[in-house]
Amino acid sequence: MTELAYLAAGVLFIVGLKGLTSPTTARRGNRLAALGMLLAVIVVVVDLIVDDVAAAWAVVIAGLIVGGAIGFILATRVQMTDMPQLVAAFNGFGGGASALVASAAIVAAGSGVATETAVVTVLSLVIGAVTLSGSFVAFGKLQGIIAGRPISPPGGTATNGVIAALTVIAGIAAVATGEDVWYWVAGGLALVLGVSAVMPIGGADMPVVISLLNSLSGVAAAMAGFVIGNQALIVGGALVGAAGFILTVEMSVAMNRSLANILFSGFGGAPVSDDIGTKPVKRATADDAAIALAYADKVAVVPGYGLAVAQAQHAVKDLASALEERGIDVYYAIHPVAGRMPGHMNVLLAEADVPYDQLYDLDQANPQLTQTDVVLVLGANDVINPSAKDDPDSPIYGMPILDVDEATTTIVVKRSLSPGFAGIDNPLFYEDGTLMYFADAKQALEETLSAVERL
Ligand code: NDP
Repeated sequence: MTELAYLAAGVLFIVGLKGLTSPTTARRGNRLAALGMLLAVIVVVVDLIVDDVAAAWAVVIAGLIVGGAIGFILATRVQMTDMPQLVAAFNGFGGGASALVASAAIVAAGSGVATETAVVTVLSLVIGAVTLSGSFVAFGKLQGIIAGRPISPPGGTATNGVIAALTVIAGIAAVATGEDVWYWVAGGLALVLGVSAVMPIGGADMPVVISLLNSLSGVAAAMAGFVIGNQALIVGGALVGAAGFILTVEMSVAMNRSLANILFSGFGGAPVSDDIGTKPVKRATADDAAIALAYADKVAVVPGYGLAVAQAQHAVKDLASALEERGIDVYYAIHPVAGRMPGHMNVLLAEADVPYDQLYDLDQANPQLTQTDVVLVLGANDVINPSAKDDPDSPIYGMPILDVDEATTTIVVKRSLSPGFAGIDNPLFYEDGTLMYFADAKQALEETLSAVERL
């Protein structure tokens, strides 16, 4: 019965994951995967009750109530823009849990365990410990508790290489000798490695790192599953490990950077160039934006990080609805790395009930932009920067971008000429067909809507 229930949980995880591939089925997918996890947890508790391990199941149920309550409160209270931190914390706890399972197995087994058990135990301990400390550094950087700029350990990347090598050596010693002390040395070094490997990474690259740590938390859980012979943990851990790694690679590709560059280059630490904002631009007011939009046939909205900061998702939906009532065709062009986490813009717009069929991804949007009259850019910057196409010296050269300069008019809403995440100037702002509307995205949208209604 236990094995069958774990199999059912594994199937629910897989069907749930499949559901996450489309916005229309994502909520259901998420619920199915959560149901799978609930089933696996119930089986563990029932097993303990059947085996009459009284103290154990009482502790497990108490843990479930306390942990479940904390998770519920955190998840319901967190702001959308703080979601990456929450995921970082969850990954850290996942890694920590796997390291604790391994630690318990080490204490319980004493010496003389089979080599394969020793290998998975040390892997669960080491990978779990790296994930635990690395995730909490990532959390601290995003939350502003630790400086977001890259901070290298003395000796730079080489120091991390040495710590990693020592961790591997201690792990091998643990397996070879079976002595507990080597496990603790490997685990302790892994905790240090998590901190020293994540500190040199710039705060803005954290979402990619969190995705990688998410993958590692899955691998650690799968190893812990082997340690205690729990199929659901093995399947669930393997799925998280694979999905997290695929997402990491996808994000790197969308930013046109290698994973090694993200992990070791200290991106985001370079000082911002001085001449940004000194060149003349064409300014627009709410009335200018309203006239351009209201007399267009086809309008594209390009949301970016600033839309999330301004929490302008409902305001953009209201303006789009007003334009649609005037018979204007409105669609949203979504860049895969717009915002600060994968799917950031899709989640925000879904919150405002923007119809899914109006959301175009990069490949769908670019051919449409040539036939679009007005593009309304809301707090996006890097994802529309033509230097990615034209300037081989640009740090973002080669990154695929939304070709908004192909449209007749582009209205860029942002508060100033400040750069975005990449810290570089955007030549689009100075082009003839570009109007700069300097304002907070939400305020600009509300003022433009009033101006459209007055027309
Ligand atoms: P950018 O970071 O390039 O630019 C955001 C712009 O928003 C800023 O220039 C800022 O200008 C403006 N802004 C900030 N607050 C407001 C506000 N309240 N109202 C209006 N505008 C505002 O954002 P993009 O979305 O274009 O690009 C995302 C970047 O993040 C890419 O470089 C990507 O590689 C990177 N990234 C994305 C990840 C992801 O998973 N999505 C993960 C890691 C990195 P101003 O201050 O003048 O208002």
